[in-house]
Amino acid sequence: MSQNTSHEYDLIVIGAGSGGVRAARIAAGLGRRVAIIEEDKVGGTCVIRGCVPKKLLAYAGAYSKSFKAAPAFGWSVQAGFNWKTLKANKDAEISRLNRIYLKLLADSGVELFTGHGRLTGPHAVAVGHKTLTAEHILIATGSHTVCPDIPGIELAIDSDGALDLDELPSSLAIKGGGYIAVEFASILNALGVNVHLVYRNDPVLRGFDMDLRVFAQQAYRDNGINVINHADVMAVKAVGEQKELALSNGQSLVVDQFLCATGRRANTRDLGLHEVGVAVREDGKILVNREQQTSVSSIYAVGDVCNDYNLTPVAIKEGHLLAERLFGGGNRYPEYDNLPTAVFSTPEIATCGFTEEQAKAECGEIEVYTSTFRPMKYAMSDVPDKTFIKLIVHKASDKVVGLHIAGLDAAEILQGFAAAMKAGITKERLDATMGIHPTSAEEIVTLR
Ligand code: NDP
Repeated sequence: MSQNTSHEYDLIVIGAGSGGVRAARIAAGLGRRVAIIEEDKVGGTCVIRGCVPKKLLAYAGAYSKSFKAAPAFGWSVQAGFNWKTLKANKDAEISRLNRIYLKLLADSGVELFTGHGRLTGPHAVAVGHKTLTAEHILIATGSHTVCPDIPGIELAIDSDGALDLDELPSSLAIKGGGYIAVEFASILNALGVNVHLVYRNDPVLRGFDMDLRVFAQQAYRDNGINVINHADVMAVKAVGEQKELALSNGQSLVVDQFLCATGRRANTRDLGLHEVGVAVREDGKILVNREQQTSVSSIYAVGDVCNDYNLTPVAIKEGHLLAERLFGGGNRYPEYDNLPTAVFSTPEIATCGFTEEQAKAECGEIEVYTSTFRPMKYAMSDVPDKTFIKLIVHKASDKVVGLHIAGLDAAEILQGFAAAMKAGITKERLDATMGIHPTSAEEIVTLR
């Protein structure tokens, strides 16, 4: 695409999270003049208040099982846990990553503007007292947590608050049964918090494979989480330093903290979308076509603000490929089939492709292979945790169309198999693959 010199920039990106930063850096690397606007810390939800700090806390939680297994391996461990140390180290690591992001932007020649970006025209964005202009504008403002408007909801924390707690509570209740609910339930339970998970349906993790959901929910219970199904938190009130929750089943819970984990909504507040004519969907997300283009041809969007996945790698891919198409003659588009995803709960969950229910609907006749086993790491100890694997094969073509894992290292195991599924691997080719022994992953190439 030719360089248009009538604008100051070739690209203005609003939002310096995963998708925005990637698009900005790729465009700048292709020699384009790029500005990026961020009102908070550069790095976005993933780095500052999402995936990265959450994973650090998940690592902290995982030590509790390792300590439990340690005596069987001859270790005597006197474990003690200090939340303030973890929080300080986690905060320092996030600051380090934030500085790396700032340096990456600066080194690639992207100009950073701090403040709230607001569209003022198809090629113009106001930030503070300045108005910047560009041939193309990219909205990559991400999403924020949303909590239903129940009485006393102001007493709740969201996942941002849970990552930032000054003190580890002795008890906590969670409303919701999705990614964030089960991840925080597992982390805090492992760190010694008495956790109640209140979910309006049964089992948790709607959208995942049913066998996986049943296995995971039972494991959460076995780990000591009080999972309360078919119930919802209807109201919250303060009782001294604690919170009393009224549940829809008539029960009440008194806890130190109440975490609301009921989903996320696109960040479109005061972006000037309506004034400039950028169409949004009913759920508030920006409407885009295959080109990531909004209803205004010079304005694009990537990531949580427009897609249904809320996953960092998806935002990065959308931003990267868009910048290549706009400025580098690229013709690649994000592919959303066989999209792997992981839930960093205990057990860790990783999944790719169809659930059994989806496979039946999409493929007709299928074959299902499952295996439940005790991972070697725990075999000598009294940690009872098991791993569950489920493989789904399209009978007519022999193609692997679904893989679901719950257990130790599930996400690390699945990533490579997701690449194989993307390449169209068949069950026959899986069977022809030699296992790596002794691992949990080898189970996947020996399923019968
Ligand atoms: P999810 O959409 O995953 O789950 C929301 C949960 O809240 C569901 O269990 C839902 O119940 C419940 N819920 C929604 N509205 C209400 C309500 N009004 N009253 C009671 N319960 C309600 O959202 P999360 O907040 O957990 O996470 C947001 C997104 O962020 C995820 O979808 C995911 O894409 C992303 N994410 C990814 C992670 C990862 O990759 N590891 C980690 C964390 C987040 P029901 O099922 O009945 O609808």
